[in-house]
Amino acid sequence: MSQARRCLPGGPELAMAALGGDRRAKARLLTLVENGHPEGRIALATLFPRAGQAHIVGFTGSTGVGKSTLVGHVARELRSRGLKVAVVAVDPSSTLSGGALLGDRLRMRDLFEDPDVFIRSMASRGHPGGIAHATRDVVTVLDALGTPVILLETVGAGQGQVDVARLAHTVVLVEAPGMGDDVQALKAGLMEIADIIVVNKSDRPEARRTLQMLRSARLERPQAEAGEADAVVDWEVPILEVSALEVRGIGELVTAVDSHRGYLEASGRWQSLRIDHIKAEIANRLRRHLQELIDTRLDGVMLDAAVGAVLNGDRDPETVARSLLRDLLEGVVTDVRPPGSTEEET
Ligand code: GDP
Repeated sequence: MSQARRCLPGGPELAMAALGGDRRAKARLLTLVENGHPEGRIALATLFPRAGQAHIVGFTGSTGVGKSTLVGHVARELRSRGLKVAVVAVDPSSTLSGGALLGDRLRMRDLFEDPDVFIRSMASRGHPGGIAHATRDVVTVLDALGTPVILLETVGAGQGQVDVARLAHTVVLVEAPGMGDDVQALKAGLMEIADIIVVNKSDRPEARRTLQMLRSARLERPQAEAGEADAVVDWEVPILEVSALEVRGIGELVTAVDSHRGYLEASGRWQSLRIDHIKAEIANRLRRHLQELIDTRLDGVMLDAAVGAVLNGDRDPETVARSLLRDLLEGVVTDVRPPGSTEEET
């Protein structure tokens, strides 16, 4: 073991320290997990069975609608209800360091100083496996460490934002008047995934128009297909008027978020989302292992021989790929051990 490694606690020690309430261990653990570090993977494997309790609430919408101001007030409201909170701000389209993401830190100073509020920001840089995957891992750790509500704020636009928002149990779409092109989210496909719609900045007179547009857009939403009826029919997406500036409507929003959790549990959706999550976790890891297998075991000699066979017309690429896969898998079957286990255990 190198000198540097010896100074640092490994994944299991960090996981234990974080479970014991050590904030520095928690921050370090999350960094390892976020970066896909092997120690992070080991810690995640240890912690995963403890996850599955947290309510993950996504906040999405265009830049400038007041998401971070709103998320700050939602966090305060949850604290006033006696709940611990984590805020994870994710910018799928940015390569900038996370610091700038949370906007005006002064505005959130009370939250940064509260030991029962954990705040983290993530940018897309350094996540070759995808930002959504890294976010999911970070959220799983926070969940396993006993955070009852995790507010996931997505910044920016596009598919990345939709992918991150989909990690949430409850998606809150934030709109605001006077954003140039009203109701931009209609185009971005965010309306379809919203469980709660918020018109922020309702202290402005133009908010009425935005509200009307959203109400009529909701009425135009296609009715559920017969097969998916159970998923949609019982929850009517509320459209709430809020002013983060005047701290109005926040309690109603938090109550709607809580009601949505109640709906998810009563309808069986909570459990089916958990099953989907576990399936995605397994599939993602399988993909990553297969990719690593190709990157590390497929050497030039094997590949040259395969190319030669196709060039000669002896074989076709599909047959060659299948035979290479068989060879690669045969070579590694004995190497597959659970993360963190030792030679003797297997
Ligand atoms: P984000 O980009 O969506 O995270 O938006 P911010 O939270 O950074 O807010 C953008 C701007 O809108 C800031 O100047 C806020 O002070 C302002 N803002 C946020 N909420 C409200 C509100 O309810 N009413 C008004 N009038 N301004 C607001």
